[in-house]
Amino acid sequence: MFKKILIANRGEIACRVIRAARELGIKTVAIHSEVDRECLHVKMADESICIGPNPAAESYLNIPSIISAAEISGADAIHPGYGFLAENTYFAEVCESCGIKFIGPSKNSIEKMGDKITARQLMIKAGVPVVPGSPGPVTIEDPDLFKLAKKIGYPVIIKATAGGGGKGMRVVVTEEALKNAIQMAQAEARSSFGNEAVYMEKYIEEPHHIEFQVLGDSKGKVVYLPERDCSIQRRHQKLLEESPSPFLDESLRRKMGKAARSAAEAVDYVTVGTVEFLVDKYRHFYFMEMNTRIQVEHPVTEMITGIDLLKEQIKLAAGERLSFDSKDVRILGHAIECRINAEDPSRDFIPSPGKITQFIAPGGPGIRVDSHVYTGYTIPPFYDSLIAKVIALAPTRAETIMRMQRALRELTVEGIKTTAPLHAKIMTNDYFAQGDVCTDFLPKHVFGNE
Ligand code: ADP
Repeated sequence: MFKKILIANRGEIACRVIRAARELGIKTVAIHSEVDRECLHVKMADESICIGPNPAAESYLNIPSIISAAEISGADAIHPGYGFLAENTYFAEVCESCGIKFIGPSKNSIEKMGDKITARQLMIKAGVPVVPGSPGPVTIEDPDLFKLAKKIGYPVIIKATAGGGGKGMRVVVTEEALKNAIQMAQAEARSSFGNEAVYMEKYIEEPHHIEFQVLGDSKGKVVYLPERDCSIQRRHQKLLEESPSPFLDESLRRKMGKAARSAAEAVDYVTVGTVEFLVDKYRHFYFMEMNTRIQVEHPVTEMITGIDLLKEQIKLAAGERLSFDSKDVRILGHAIECRINAEDPSRDFIPSPGKITQFIAPGGPGIRVDSHVYTGYTIPPFYDSLIAKVIALAPTRAETIMRMQRALRELTVEGIKTTAPLHAKIMTNDYFAQGDVCTDFLPKHVFGNE
């Protein structure tokens, strides 16, 4: 087992890694930018090292500084968290060449799943259904562009092959709008990912975003856990997740879980990852992408299974074998996670950084809060706006909704705007109560601009 883990990240996920490492008897090293000196992960870790100025490019994305910090502190492994360098093959490669274990899958697995076209081709080969789409990248010069779109059938969606975070996507309803949408998606892809390649997919109407957590060990064993439903999104970004999904039954759960396992096996997956699917109203499911890291929403799975995914991830990276099978996993109840972001939902979710004058976390039975903020903490404008995750577990979905309502009433965040009032609204929404939730839930049922 590792002796010391450096966490190449910040905020709540850095705190989460420190907690798991400590329970495994492993020492931790926090890294931070200048402004993050007061962040909770720095206070919680055994050691901390300032690795650079505030912009992420000069600190949390600064590979030479991070590797030096690991070498100076004597860390034998690096946990990348999510975002920043978590899916960067070059970083994984540098770690390995310096004799430091990257806590994640191999460089090859990251590479294959990182490019959406390569991943789609691999999935087709592995027998996993994918959304009908173009076999490769599309450009406005393609002589068969309109023919292809017609064959796929409007509406179509143009997506960045290197995409992430809902960026570089454009829905196209008519032929007239196609070329312009491709150019716009290319421009966004170029500025966000440094790669302008885009491809075309059928736009699935009223889809459910349903994903499966998978775990793989170095002996080739892969297990899947019950699904997470992440259909409540704003601008194609997740806002609330729950498990199990109100839309799945046992037979579809098993079918999709097995497809997720095949997806992971196709890239020899080791450690924890997530296979994302879209499910249409006829309950047909399609592979969308695989995230080769721990995800923000992992706690709902931890709550309903009792499995500590961070500890599993660290143990699997250290070469341990998986100690259970998918069929051993019991669903212990229903869990919901609300992402509390420092954003103003009434002003199109613009970021709301600044000083938190009072922070009171909810507690009591069945409530978990993962956060790095506290009263007096100043949220810097440089990074992700997530400040806390409130997770509720109860025996049934209806009880979990009631529990989340009372937790959100207990939560106090003063001095900044947050998404908490929006979550409170969702918790009392009739469509949500019925489990009638697609990715267009917010505009359709909450903001009312159908
Ligand atoms: P990213 O990598 O940017 O997160 P994803 O491929 O995971 O992109 O898609 C994010 C979200 O975009 C999905 O959850 C869904 O809401 C929407 N989306 C993506 N592809 C499609 C599609 N073919 N049809 C309908 N919605 C889609």
